[in-house]
Amino acid sequence: MDPARLLDDLDAAQLEAVTTPAAPLRVLAGAGSGKTRVLTRRIAHRVATGTADPRHVLVLTFTRKAAGELLARLRALGLRDSVTAGTFHAVAYAQLRAHWSDRGQRAPELVDRRLPLIRPLVPKGVPATDVSTELEWASARDLTLDDYPAAVVAAGRRPGVDPEVVVDVGRRYAHTKQRRHLVDFDDLVRGCRDALRADPTFAAAQRWRFRHLFVDEFQDVNPLQLSLVRTWLDGADDLCVVGDPHQAIYAWNGADPELLVDFERWFPGAATVVLDDNHRSTPQVLAAAAAVLGPAATRPGALRAHRPDGPAPTVHVLADESAEAHHVARTVRDLHAPGARWSSQAVLVRTNAQTALLAEALRVAGVPHRIRGGSSLLDRAEVRTALAGLRRHTGPFSVALDDLAAEVGPLEPDPEPSAPDDESSSSDDATPEGDAAAERRAALGALVTLGREYARTDPRPSGDGFWGWLRATSGGDGPDGDAVEVVTFHAAKGLEWPIVHLAGLEAGYVPIGHARTPAALDEERRLLHVAVTRAEHVLRLTWARQRTLGTRVVGREPSPFLAELAMATAPEPLANPVSGVARARAQVPTPVVPVDEAVAQRTDALRDWRERRARAAAVPPEVVLDDATLVALATEPPVTLDDVAAVPGIGPVRARRLGPLVLEVLAELSPPAPEGAPSGAAPRRGARAPRG
Ligand code: ATP
Ligand code: MG
Repeated sequence: MDPARLLDDLDAAQLEAVTTPAAPLRVLAGAGSGKTRVLTRRIAHRVATGTADPRHVLVLTFTRKAAGELLARLRALGLRDSVTAGTFHAVAYAQLRAHWSDRGQRAPELVDRRLPLIRPLVPKGVPATDVSTELEWASARDLTLDDYPAAVVAAGRRPGVDPEVVVDVGRRYAHTKQRRHLVDFDDLVRGCRDALRADPTFAAAQRWRFRHLFVDEFQDVNPLQLSLVRTWLDGADDLCVVGDPHQAIYAWNGADPELLVDFERWFPGAATVVLDDNHRSTPQVLAAAAAVLGPAATRPGALRAHRPDGPAPTVHVLADESAEAHHVARTVRDLHAPGARWSSQAVLVRTNAQTALLAEALRVAGVPHRIRGGSSLLDRAEVRTALAGLRRHTGPFSVALDDLAAEVGPLEPDPEPSAPDDESSSSDDATPEGDAAAERRAALGALVTLGREYARTDPRPSGDGFWGWLRATSGGDGPDGDAVEVVTFHAAKGLEWPIVHLAGLEAGYVPIGHARTPAALDEERRLLHVAVTRAEHVLRLTWARQRTLGTRVVGREPSPFLAELAMATAPEPLANPVSGVARARAQVPTPVVPVDEAVAQRTDALRDWRERRARAAAVPPEVVLDDATLVALATEPPVTLDDVAAVPGIGPVRARRLGPLVLEVLAELSPPAPEGAPSGAAPRRGARAPRG
């Protein structure tokens, strides 16, 4: 490996972060600025220059997926499989197993679902999930049960259960585990840290084995994990962490972004490198991302765009959740250029429960798709059982469906927080304990919604008919696993896609209904920021005016964060006076492009034209016009040649050549909307300076 080649394509700040001999080292930067790239390059560069042995490198990540991707990036840089990368849980568990086996101890059994163990210990009327959540939080904060009640007060935390109950159940749960020789996931990190402290031989062996430590996404580290890192290091300084305080999204789970912000407090003499350029997203996406953060975006670490202009993000409102899901699915299909990969698009939602409807809509639209870290609706046991029941039912389908709906009952309008995609469950698609029951009900709720939709299309609806309707369009991955991903905001951390659809941007989801304290609301803001910054080029946001949650139909309001976002991304008030005034008055974002059908029509027309032209010239369609530009033209149709030239990605030369043709295609479709029209495609009125 030639060290110089590892530095070829880095910007100046990245170069500094990769090559500085300073230690410990903290790299602070916003989303998409190349933190993960710096981490992998630094490892490869140190190996290439002989200052680190790959067999002694340990990289800590927050998901198995992230660990896998990191190793893949290292392999691409020429490092074989000698580097160890894993989550805190996985690494701690591996070391503990070595510890137990060295001492000839029988390894305790690892429980992956602790709720069944906790439930019998909880007093009647107290939700076991709340107790479990609190125990998890206490463990993440590295608290003893004695310290827990005071810490709750100090942290301004509002647990749904009396702290004394938590302490009591926690004691008895610990006793149960001891008696039955069990450990749960929370015990692994603490157990490893305690074993290192108690057993010098074991500690020396681990410190010899892993002497170069790296941590990605350090803003989501909790005090217990920090303590393990410090115990591993034992005063040594070979540590490099990268993180972004604006992306801290696990405080509810015990993480503490101050550990990154106050890094020097834990690691005196640490050096810091700040990266300033964003290499992932267009200025338009970044403007939206900054708007979502509000005033915090002006703090150091704000994002500076490095990529060329792209289309402005759009907000679309649909009548209900079904309409929204189908709208998103259709748009995914429309934005899919022939020959392009489905995996260049992703649909992001706030909760796991929302993924089912979107996945079904994608299936109906014939779009290969996959739920990251989850299973599709039809793969779920409770859904299959319910479907079998519907098919067995001899009476009218609507009655059977009503029975099922009644069984599900009214679903909470404020769903459970979505699951962190970490190791705290034994299989990839398991959900953490607390969410499992809520998710089962949400899945059945989604099935009821789909059943109602089916019943509207079939004059003689039946269970078998519903089954056939669900199966009619085969979904699943494309031939080589190529698929659109449906993924929660949390699980999307660290990832990126050229085209990102954010669905369900409603109060209750974004922010989540149970986020009430200022701290919790700030975290929700950052979570939306994480979601928005996954987009490289196209960002589309949707919400529904009405949603059926179990048996309850609820009216929905747009996410309050959309108001800021719309201000940052919509045309200037003058260009769209009516919506500008309405927005200012109601603080409700007006869809930037309210008429979806019109956009879809223009997209189709432009795509047909592009195909014809590409065939005539014997070139791939993207050479004529890339997808993003095509979408930009369809979204805000130009009316003059100057308008065409102002479309990001076209430029004056191509505007002269293609402009007249593009205008002709668009003019054939529809006359431009009259000046000041409140809705419809607002024609582009002259060039607009990119914002942000
Ligand atoms: P996040 O905060 O979302 O985890 P990050 O800071 O870790 O983001 P990366 O994922 O490392 O950012 O990089 C974002 C994208 O920018 C990646 O596609 C990466 O390959 C690209 N990139 C990073 N640095 C450069 C560069 N100097 N030149 C070109 N592309 C770059
Ligand atoms: Mg990253």
